[in-house]
Amino acid sequence: MIDKYLFWLYTQMQMKTIFNYNQLQKKGYKLTPQRKIVIEILVRETHHLSADEIYLKVKRVYPRIGLTTVYRTLDVLSELGWVRRCDFGEGKARYEFAENFSKNNKHHHHIVCIKCNAVIDYADFVDKETELIKASEINIAEKYDFNVQWHSVRFYGICRKCAKNDKK
Ligand SMILES: [Zn+2]
Ligand SMILES: [Zn+2]
Ligand SMILES: [Zn+2]
Repeated sequence: MIDKYLFWLYTQMQMKTIFNYNQLQKKGYKLTPQRKIVIEILVRETHHLSADEIYLKVKRVYPRIGLTTVYRTLDVLSELGWVRRCDFGEGKARYEFAENFSKNNKHHHHIVCIKCNAVIDYADFVDKETELIKASEINIAEKYDFNVQWHSVRFYGICRKCAKNDKK
C-alpha cells in the first residue's frame, strides 16, 4: 500500500519535470485530476493501452470516473498532438504518447503479431531504413506539396512465441 503511494508520488514529481501543463490550460482545456491521471498512466505505461484498459487503471484511483471522460481526455490529448492513436487492426484504438512528449518514448516503429496482437516497439533502425524514410518524406513533400509532420511504420507478421506454438 505504502509502496504504491510512494510510486504514485514519484510519478507526480516526474511528471512535473516532463510536462508543461500550462500548455493544456492555455488551449482552453481544464486540467482535472482525472485528466491528469490519464496522462500519467500513458506516460508510465509503454504498452499501447486501449481506452478500456486506461479506464480500468484510472478507476482504481477515481472509482467514479466514466469511460466517456477517458475517451474525451484521449481526444483532447490527440488533438494537442501529445498522444497518438494507433490502430493495430484489432477493431479498437490503442494509445501511446507522442515521442516528443515523453522521455521514455523515443521515436520508434512497430512490429505487430497478427496472431496474438503483441505490439513490439523498436528504435534500433538500420541506417537504410532511416535513409529510406527521409527520402520518402522529401519525395512526398515535392510531389504532393505535402508537409509531412510525422510517420508511423508497422510490420505485420508472426512473433517468435506464436511461431513456436504453431510447431508444437
Ligand atoms: Zn520513423
Ligand atoms: Zn504472437
Ligand atoms: Zn509504440
